[in-house]
Amino acid sequence: MAGLFDLHGKAALVTGGNRGIGLGIARGLAGAGAEVGVVARDQQQNAAACAELSALGVKAMGVAADVSARVQAEAAVAEVAAALGRLDIVVHCAGISRGGRPPRHKEEDWDAVVDLNLKAALFVVQAAHPHLVAAGGGKVITIGSEFSIFGGVNNPGYVASKGGIVQLTKGLASAWGRDNIQVNCILPGIIETALWGEVLQGGFRETMVRRTPAGRIGTPDDHQGIAVFLASAASDFVTGQAIAVDGGFAIADPLVFN
Ligand code: NDP
Repeated sequence: MAGLFDLHGKAALVTGGNRGIGLGIARGLAGAGAEVGVVARDQQQNAAACAELSALGVKAMGVAADVSARVQAEAAVAEVAAALGRLDIVVHCAGISRGGRPPRHKEEDWDAVVDLNLKAALFVVQAAHPHLVAAGGGKVITIGSEFSIFGGVNNPGYVASKGGIVQLTKGLASAWGRDNIQVNCILPGIIETALWGEVLQGGFRETMVRRTPAGRIGTPDDHQGIAVFLASAASDFVTGQAIAVDGGFAIADPLVFN
């Protein structure tokens, strides 16, 4: 059974892998034996993440890139594939949120959010596709959100990007099934990361804990297991799915807070 989840001999690229949920996912993949290329803008943070991943006994390398720029996304994919000698697993986790209710939502915020959360996913996986095919198939993991399911009043660009990524996931899964590439989306719940800034403090945090059947906020490491499943042979007949990692947030009785 353990062999089903074994990633030794596999190479993974994780955008946004230098902290937060992306680092949690990278930890899971490295723990299962995959070599990892971390792609994000902050070189120092990339180096710190790679030091942590290397300590798990695998090769890890960082590439500083803004993947919302096609040229940089393509170059980053090429650099990771060349350095690791192959590419089997691609995770697009880099993401941002910028707020503003619909009347005040700025066009530049919409563009920045949609460009990174949605369009960059296409840049990255398009560049990776030939490498996955050359490897005989592969795994693509995208990252949605509770806002892939629920309407969000504060952040139209974020909601649109996270709805769109689920549909892109289904489209890629359909298109690349014959290439033996499985494409699935993780929908994180309320997860303790820098994305929230100060928002997750005080009363809001307490409300979210009460709203979540598991009775707690999630952590980046809560994504290790699902990432290994979706990156491994264990999920070879699973594709085009969006799977919530949210302690039950999305299925909770909307009328009852614990
Ligand atoms: P963090 O802010 O902790 O991490 C964001 C990551 O994205 C960092 O590694 C950052 O690195 C990278 N990044 C940002 N901009 C770019 C860019 N232009 N090019 C390349 N990398 C970039 O956030 P989370 O870990 O919380 O978020 C990760 C994903 O999870 C996002 O897609 C987010 O929408 C999603 N998510 C998070 C939830 C939560 O509760 N935290 C809930 C639902 C979904 P650097 O700054 O060095 O570039």
